[in-house]
Amino acid sequence: MDLNLLSTEETATLRNLLSHATHIVICAHKSPDGDAIGSSLAWMHYLQQIGKTDIKVCMPDATPDFLHWLPGHNCVIRYDRRPKEVEKAFREADLVCCLDFNQNSRVDAMQEVLEHSNALRLLVDHHLEPDTDNALTVSHPEMSSTSEIVFRLISQLGGYGEMTRQCAACIYCGMMTDTGGFTYNSSRPEIFYIIGQLLAKGIDKDEIYNRVFHNYSSNALRLRAHIILNKMKVIEELHASYYTVTKEEMTKFHFIKGDMEGLVNVPQQIKGLKLSISLREDTEKPSLVLVSLRSSNGFHCQPMAARFFNGGGHADASGGRLHCTIEEAEQIVIKAILYYKEELR
Ligand code: 5GP
Ligand code: MN
Repeated sequence: MDLNLLSTEETATLRNLLSHATHIVICAHKSPDGDAIGSSLAWMHYLQQIGKTDIKVCMPDATPDFLHWLPGHNCVIRYDRRPKEVEKAFREADLVCCLDFNQNSRVDAMQEVLEHSNALRLLVDHHLEPDTDNALTVSHPEMSSTSEIVFRLISQLGGYGEMTRQCAACIYCGMMTDTGGFTYNSSRPEIFYIIGQLLAKGIDKDEIYNRVFHNYSSNALRLRAHIILNKMKVIEELHASYYTVTKEEMTKFHFIKGDMEGLVNVPQQIKGLKLSISLREDTEKPSLVLVSLRSSNGFHCQPMAARFFNGGGHADASGGRLHCTIEEAEQIVIKAILYYKEELR
């Protein structure tokens, strides 16, 4: 099966970038998810495989607990914890690899550090319309995940034979999380061919699934149940649903990062639902509301995320943020749903 993504010219550019790089930084978006951290660590394992010894994986902030098992995760340097070390890494780098994001603002507080680096840049991403300037841009929104792209790049560069089980586990985790356990965005045969190739490296896919999806505390499960039972609003005639989560509720259920992961997908289980929106107060910054959107059944949430929520993402999985109270955010959601009422009906 042909997995190649790069033209002959792009392959030469990538080979050239890699062969000249000595000090390498890998970074991904704020609040890294399974794909951001999985693709970054997989790329790190590959670079080690081809003999690179100075690779720094720099993330803006924490990875959720359920991803800490990823091989190589102990190498990650967090900008919110060790800013000086991250600044030094970017300053000394001759190659910066940006994985799983399309706009510099997605690295949040690390943006200035990234933009001040004089290193050549490689972008590997599957979000719509990348707007960054790079020596090589590998942007494929039709791919399930950045991790899938990383697999294909390694394969195209001839690195599959020597790929380690650790690298394969990182790739599998990223592909699995960005497709909701291969339940959406995952109907192309190549995906299952790649899974086969990863299994041949000795990964245990059932164990990876359990580590990621069966990792809740009882409090987290109760918080999720509380939101669906008491907070979820459904506008039946517009096939839309939304909920709000306050800091107070999160405190009550001893919220830790990751507890709400994927909850926005749950209302999508309602028959015929086209749009699900999650509004959550930020646990640190006051008057900041984090927005997640999911769509299906022919409606696409990405334009809504851009127009109403200062965000973007994928056609059917987007996010954004609002600088207002949760009550004001709820009013914006209602306005957004009514704006698209013809398409939602
Ligand atoms: P989530 O709802 O899982 O946080 O995000 C869903 C998708 O939307 C992810 O692919 C993420 O990269 C994207 N996304 C989340 N927040 C933002 C944002 O503030 N701006 C943009 N452009 N994309 C976002
Ligand atoms: Mn992704």
